[in-house]
Amino acid sequence: MTVADRETQVVERVSKQLFIGGQWRDAKSGATFKVEDPSTGSVLCEVADASTEDAFAALDAAAAAQPTWAAYPPRERGEILRRAYELLMERQDDLALLMTLEMGKPLAEAKGEIAYAAEFFRWFSEEAVRIEGGFSLAPNGQARFLIMRQPVGPCMLITPWNFPMAMGTRKIGPAIAAGCTMVLKPAQQTPLSALALADILREAGLPEGVLSVLTTTNAGGVTEPLLRDGRIRKMSFTGSTAVGRKLLEQSADQVLRTSMELGGNAPFLVFADADLDAAVEGAMQAKMRNIGEACTAANRIYVHSSIAAEFARRLGERMSKLTLGRGTEDGVQVGPLIDAKAREKVQGLVDDAVSRGAKVLVGGAAGDGDGYFYQPTVLTDVPKSSELSSTEIFGPVAPIIPFDTEEEAVAAANDTEYGLVSYVYTQDLSRAFRVSEALEAGMVGLNQGIVSNPAAPFGGVKHSGLGREGSRVGIDEFLETKYVGIGGV
Ligand code: NAP
Repeated sequence: MTVADRETQVVERVSKQLFIGGQWRDAKSGATFKVEDPSTGSVLCEVADASTEDAFAALDAAAAAQPTWAAYPPRERGEILRRAYELLMERQDDLALLMTLEMGKPLAEAKGEIAYAAEFFRWFSEEAVRIEGGFSLAPNGQARFLIMRQPVGPCMLITPWNFPMAMGTRKIGPAIAAGCTMVLKPAQQTPLSALALADILREAGLPEGVLSVLTTTNAGGVTEPLLRDGRIRKMSFTGSTAVGRKLLEQSADQVLRTSMELGGNAPFLVFADADLDAAVEGAMQAKMRNIGEACTAANRIYVHSSIAAEFARRLGERMSKLTLGRGTEDGVQVGPLIDAKAREKVQGLVDDAVSRGAKVLVGGAAGDGDGYFYQPTVLTDVPKSSELSSTEIFGPVAPIIPFDTEEEAVAAANDTEYGLVSYVYTQDLSRAFRVSEALEAGMVGLNQGIVSNPAAPFGGVKHSGLGREGSRVGIDEFLETKYVGIGGV
């Protein structure tokens, strides 16, 4: 089979319909929309375009399935997740290719994401049987307290395009484990991964109505009426802070439980005592994972002035050697950005920094070809006034900013409304603890360029979000606590 035939085959195999109440069906209106390959700009296929009417059919299914699903044995819920984990891993190569085609990331990274995504199912298959309550005696010795944990109820899940599979499993895994039903709305640029995931869960034995998937070009028209309906009890969102704010407002009407995984503006601090090789390696990971299109991407690289020039030289050398191209091709390390708008935004931020005095060490321009390529770029002497100091770049651009004192570095790192992750490179143990404590972030990568791990609590503070995903606490977001006061014992 030729490479092109295999690409066609993995796209053809995925259902292009809506998944509602355990059935695949067209949108009521018959409408469809196009899915593009960002590395060529060509159309891969068309998928169903859901309307409000379809959304209510999904909500009806979720509401109808909720009582039975809540009563399903936890072990069986866990077994479904475990089977889905195994199916994801068995089909890792095909699913990775599908993801690369619709999103652009290099195949090796897409394979990594499938494994990361699957791990949320394995983790929560284990958590499903460890939902614990409590029993205690009142302080005055006269009553007993029985504490139970129950599923929140039907959930609305909204996911972004940058990690099309993992952002889904990070929500679906704990929701299944907790006994919640769901309506998932994936990003319109990457519907195929979500549709493939729904089919895997169906095959793994997920009962009808527990999960519905609505692909749509009308995000607000599909999700807002459901949030205001009253039957949805939980809203879990991953995406930009601007959209997150809107969804929080909409969720206020029905006083919904909310989880918000929002934008970032991660500082990456390299102190004079850092292991420079490790810091450069960490910066490559923190900056270039997912073509820089990650909420955890290093957005501002602060380096002590005594080593800034050497750090920039080494980072520039590494960045200049990266191979830019179509993610399906051998040896490609950097794929295209998601669309033309994203590329324009990145170019605008680079131009703005340069107009304010920054110097381009490497890159600084769009890549060749029909896709939305942007060259791996290193900027030095980036002034604080540059727009990219306060804006999520979401592209392969590494701005280096020198600092002189620890206080100055921490103050600069915290000088943002975001607080998702911060990175710190130092070999001084006291400084490592001091700075980790002082950073306003939900996560700190200490001498480590990647923090994402299904067994660790992922999430941000300030405008980066509310709640945590993954780890022991991830399931709590989908559980209510009920207390029964027992008298007369
Ligand atoms: P986005 O524009 O906020 O979109 C995210 C999702 O929200 C998409 O499914 C989108 O649908 C939907 N959406 C947009 N407007 C909506 C509305 N009015 N009502 C309901 N849903 C709406 O973000 P993005 O550009 O896809 O993703 C990038 C952002 O996500 C970045 O800021 C990044 O930092 C953040 N992110 C955060 C995390 C985290 O864990 N903290 C992880 C990954 C990404 P459409 O596709 O149809 O527009």
